[in-house]
Amino acid sequence: MEKKQRRLFLKQAGAMAATTAFLPNSLWSATRQQKDKLGVALVGLGYYSTDLLAPALQLTKNCELKGIVTGSPEKIPVWKKKYGIADKNIYNYGNFDDIANNPDIDVIYIVLPPSMHAEYTIRAANTGKHVWCEKPMAPSVEECEKMIKACKDNKVKLAIGYRCQHDPNIQAYMQVAKERTFGKVMMVTSAAGYFDGRTDHWKQKKALGGGVMGDMGVYAIQGARLATGEEPISVLAQTYTVRPDIYHEVEETAMFQLEFPSGARAACHTSFGINMNYLKINYEKGWVYMEPHSSYNGNKGVRSDGVEINFPIESQQAKQMDEDAASIINGTNMLVPGEEGLRDIRVVEAVYKSAAKDCLVKL
Ligand code: NAD
Repeated sequence: MEKKQRRLFLKQAGAMAATTAFLPNSLWSATRQQKDKLGVALVGLGYYSTDLLAPALQLTKNCELKGIVTGSPEKIPVWKKKYGIADKNIYNYGNFDDIANNPDIDVIYIVLPPSMHAEYTIRAANTGKHVWCEKPMAPSVEECEKMIKACKDNKVKLAIGYRCQHDPNIQAYMQVAKERTFGKVMMVTSAAGYFDGRTDHWKQKKALGGGVMGDMGVYAIQGARLATGEEPISVLAQTYTVRPDIYHEVEETAMFQLEFPSGARAACHTSFGINMNYLKINYEKGWVYMEPHSSYNGNKGVRSDGVEINFPIESQQAKQMDEDAASIINGTNMLVPGEEGLRDIRVVEAVYKSAAKDCLVKL
């Protein structure tokens, strides 16, 4: 597989040699250097970059950690020592755009609070590098559309960090819907939440894109959308908080019902106050139960016919980044493109509208 990908890459690079004037910077540099691995720059060195993405980039075959972008100079020596990042590949938010001229970097991965995703994705696309952006894609549909457009205009690829879609356990229940193994989907129950004891974090601030809907609600939405293979046509929602001292700008908990074109329905629950992580899918002639459903590892389930869904993987994030890098190398579609991130944000907006107006919102 690896050899095949590399052959394809070299074939593509050779074929493009005559037209390099029209290439985005990343492909242009890759073409010249015929790299084995794409260089990734992580933007924002918080929890997810530090604990999950950087370690996963030590396991990847198609990409590697080459650069960092940070507003915290004190983090630089730590990252340099741990990952051998070259000085020329270290940026701050001011000189970020200079990555355009850095052939070591092919992909810019935005791992910032959601309110910053649109600005940095657009700036990244304008450098000519490919862009990976964490979930939730952005706080509004309008911003998601601008991000997609910026990547299209710059002829670079955009992927959203929905690691679960790269997980064979999630793909297993998606396949059940596709093959209609148990007939039509009737009802989905989808829950994603954890108890967050922090009292001063961007997840509690509206201006930074906080709120449980974007953070965990998207996993509940993904469960319903992936289980049915359909897009919802209506949303009925309630949001509330039981800790108003912490969650006074954004919702702590949301419960929402989705209706799908086939008639399938989903009851979704998400919270920063409750530990829950499961998906139950009821079909005409059976069921699938996943628990955990959206964890970093160990997602598993069982079907009503006794078949177990249990495919252990070493690192979801490594698989995600390797597959996204392969899509760039081979010129194929991203598994989770910007349009997929946008679909969830459309539902998130409808949840807020429904909760605010206390009415059913049609999509
Ligand atoms: P975090 O708070 O730990 O890190 C955020 C980073 O952004 C920090 O390095 C911080 O310094 C930087 N930053 C820059 N400007 C900031 C500002 N104005 N306010 C706050 N921080 C600022 O957050 P995180 O948990 O690493 O989340 C980052 C992104 O990754 C979010 O979009 C989050 O939803 C996503 N995430 C995804 C997963 C997943 O499983 N796919 C898991 C965790 C986080």
